[in-house]
Amino acid sequence: MHKVTFIPGDGTGPDVAWAMRRCVDATGVQIEWEEQHAGLDVMEEKGTPLPPEVLESVRRNKVAIKGPITTPVGKGFRSVNVALRKELDLYACLRPCKYYPGVRSHYPDVDLVIVRENTEDLYAGIEFQEGTDECLKAIETIEGLSGARIKRDSGVSIKPISISGSERIVRWAFEYALANGRRKVTAVHKANIMKHSDGPFLATARRVAEEYAGKVEFEDRIVDNMCMQLVQKPELYDVLVLPNLYGDILSDLACGLVGGLGVAPGANMGDGIAVFEATHGSAPKYKGLNKVNPTATILSGVLMLRHLGEQEAASRLEKAVSEVIAQGQHVTYDLKAQRDDPTAVGTSEMADAIIGAL
Ligand code: NAD
Repeated sequence: MHKVTFIPGDGTGPDVAWAMRRCVDATGVQIEWEEQHAGLDVMEEKGTPLPPEVLESVRRNKVAIKGPITTPVGKGFRSVNVALRKELDLYACLRPCKYYPGVRSHYPDVDLVIVRENTEDLYAGIEFQEGTDECLKAIETIEGLSGARIKRDSGVSIKPISISGSERIVRWAFEYALANGRRKVTAVHKANIMKHSDGPFLATARRVAEEYAGKVEFEDRIVDNMCMQLVQKPELYDVLVLPNLYGDILSDLACGLVGGLGVAPGANMGDGIAVFEATHGSAPKYKGLNKVNPTATILSGVLMLRHLGEQEAASRLEKAVSEVIAQGQHVTYDLKAQRDDPTAVGTSEMADAIIGAL
């Protein structure tokens, strides 16, 4: 029996999270789900969108799966998703981007895995608002230290990238490649320009790669070239490891190659702890409509089953998802040729079809 923290989320989160839970249960794997609530609705009730018992539950069970959670723009609370990653030190974001026949895409051969560093880089949240005393002080200090000139009406965001942070994410990517029979890791960077942040990232990647020589190939690409290569010949690439910001951007690019947000699963992992979730957000305009595609969250459930060592059940569930998509009948609106196709089914009906195919 596995114990898993189950966080339905808000917006369309509960629709896709419950669809996933029913599919995972239908594989026959024994899971005791510990249901925990976080997000907009919890904020109204408990005064915080991330009550401490949610974190305690994830720390205790070491495995969680969640529906998306809304982050209101410009007001309210910090992102619950970012807080979870920070509090639990989930430093590796895993996003497999694989083509399933039946999904509308120009790229039928794509099977990429993006490994994104989750804690450093421009995402570290070290920012100075233009015009404030702190910002002017930061500008003067940086000018004094670097000799550079910075316009006084600038805002400033700091990009820290550490050797230790780079080492653990690159090692994670190689270990993932080894464990999953992948042949190559590509480190993506802009070390030619950002010599003291992307530079150490690349140098560390090269050093770690030497330990895996003969087992997993290694190469590096400059990020702008990588974007072009991914659009022209994505089939040449396998596992990509990237600092936080490039990882954020390229994982959406890769997700677009294989048919978009509806089919892109993900996981945020630390040492001995893992939180699985789709790449997409809470799509609030479809809240309560039983409309959005549950595939990304169900495939996140497949990743979770593999993480739990339930390989056979994971493969069966992935095959069932793939069959339903390939048949193209019991699928949500976004997988139909025309988005207003009246034969599109709802979230829970697509889950029913997947359970039927199991
Ligand atoms: P979104 O991913 O929620 O939706 C963008 C659009 O993509 C939707 O309007 C819809 O047309 C489509 N889409 C998304 N998921 C789909 C699905 N499963 N099936 C079919 N179509 C789908 O992105 P957004 O509108 O930028 O963000 C909405 C909210 O979600 C924001 O508050 C954001 O902060 C939050 N968010 C949460 C997470 C997370 O929980 N990890 C991730 C990203 C965004």
